[in-house]
Amino acid sequence: MTTIKLYNTRTRAKEVLEPLDPGNVRMYVCGPTVYDRAHLGNARPVIVFDLLYRLLRHVHGPDHVTYVRNFTDVDDKINARAIENVGKGGDVNAEIARITAETTQWFLDDMAALGALEPDAMPRATQYIPQMIAMIEELIAGGHAYEAEGHVLFAVESFKDYGKLSGRSVDDMIAGARVEVAPYKRNPMDFVLWKPSSDDLPGWDSPWGRGRPGWHIECSAMSHELLGESFDIHGGGNDLMFPHHENEIAQSCCAHPEGDFARIWMHNEMLQVEGKKMSKSLGNFFTVHDLLEGHDDAPPVPGEVIRFVFLSTHYRKPMDWTAQKAREGGATLRKWYAQAAQGRDDAAPCKAVVDALADDLNTPKAITSLHRLSHADDIPALRASLRFLGLMGDSVPRWAAAPEVDLSEHEKRLFEARQIAMESKDFTELDRLKAALVAAGVEVRMSKAGVELIPGPGFDPARLEGLS
Ligand code: AMP
Ligand code: ZN
Repeated sequence: MTTIKLYNTRTRAKEVLEPLDPGNVRMYVCGPTVYDRAHLGNARPVIVFDLLYRLLRHVHGPDHVTYVRNFTDVDDKINARAIENVGKGGDVNAEIARITAETTQWFLDDMAALGALEPDAMPRATQYIPQMIAMIEELIAGGHAYEAEGHVLFAVESFKDYGKLSGRSVDDMIAGARVEVAPYKRNPMDFVLWKPSSDDLPGWDSPWGRGRPGWHIECSAMSHELLGESFDIHGGGNDLMFPHHENEIAQSCCAHPEGDFARIWMHNEMLQVEGKKMSKSLGNFFTVHDLLEGHDDAPPVPGEVIRFVFLSTHYRKPMDWTAQKAREGGATLRKWYAQAAQGRDDAAPCKAVVDALADDLNTPKAITSLHRLSHADDIPALRASLRFLGLMGDSVPRWAAAPEVDLSEHEKRLFEARQIAMESKDFTELDRLKAALVAAGVEVRMSKAGVELIPGPGFDPARLEGLS
């Protein structure tokens, strides 16, 4: 059997995965808070842990893996968005229900387009409130939590290992973190397990009055309910390591001291865009949906191409999304698909590809093996390996099947239009032609020397008809 090695943030070492129960390998990954479309960075943990899920299923058998990823559907950000939409006097609760249902479906659609399998369970936080209340009661009974002014807080000093995952001491945290100082906290690092809710916001009856849970207790309660006191892998982005995962560990280990909660903690690094942090103010912020549909001047990027670009960087390294990578990735996949389409579905994935993934998800190495299979024209192995990585569905998608089209006539025409525009200072026709090409998924490069047209991954030759 293939040995799987994974880097464990908790021990800071690569470890052999030895499942607690080989008949049921269990993994929990923190999912999205549902109030807005997923941005491209949110896709990274989904793709990374989907690869691990596929590997676990391949090695242990599909019936011997349980993957849980939650939806956080109760949160201050959701409340704020609903109030923003309907105003203070409006039906905030109805709006919350609408936003969370809509955003959840968007998320599922976008991630399916990226080739991510659905986890075995996708619990919604609001369905596990009784379990959260029960866990908080246990923490209070054990001296790990206290009630103050309608809030219940976790006492970080009651857990000696607090800070171990991220390697911080409580004093360092206080000095470094922007913690919410509240008069009712015994220690500034104490965090909320439960807080009061006003009548117009979602709330549940509890021993501490009508209120709602804090974010961290949601994951502790849902993972316990669905995976038990001890399970194999817990994942998420490294921005969640502190405080979210640190707090999950404190809650779960104190409520269930007999268990070890999660054995292996895995964290993906962050995603950047064109070398910069993705942010709305820099104008380089976009959602997965924007990319799939095409946005501003950019042509659509097929989901497999997005996935392939993500695979080109190891998950523990910062990754840079660039339009250039999408173009190159699209060209490579188009070539591989044309080859692989000739194969059938009875081959096993190449051992080198499986082994690369089993070595802490070394996807760049897996891609090197795919190149080798393509050069060797080993079609059955190429096809099976692409499918194993979630890069190929049942048939070659339309964008990849599109025949190579000679664009030289369009280049000539654009070049002429450019010269006329420069002389007449009337750019209407030039802009029209350019926009039509971009809309068809063609990359337009214009310089004094000439015009170059490059079909992008979303290239659709049908959309060029009627242009000439
Ligand atoms: P959030 O909805 O902000 O809690 O994020 C959902 C998931 O996306 C978490 O696992 C985050 O760690 C991850 N995430 C958020 N931003 C990025 C980013 N820029 N790069 C990679 N992962 C991210
Ligand atoms: Zn979580």
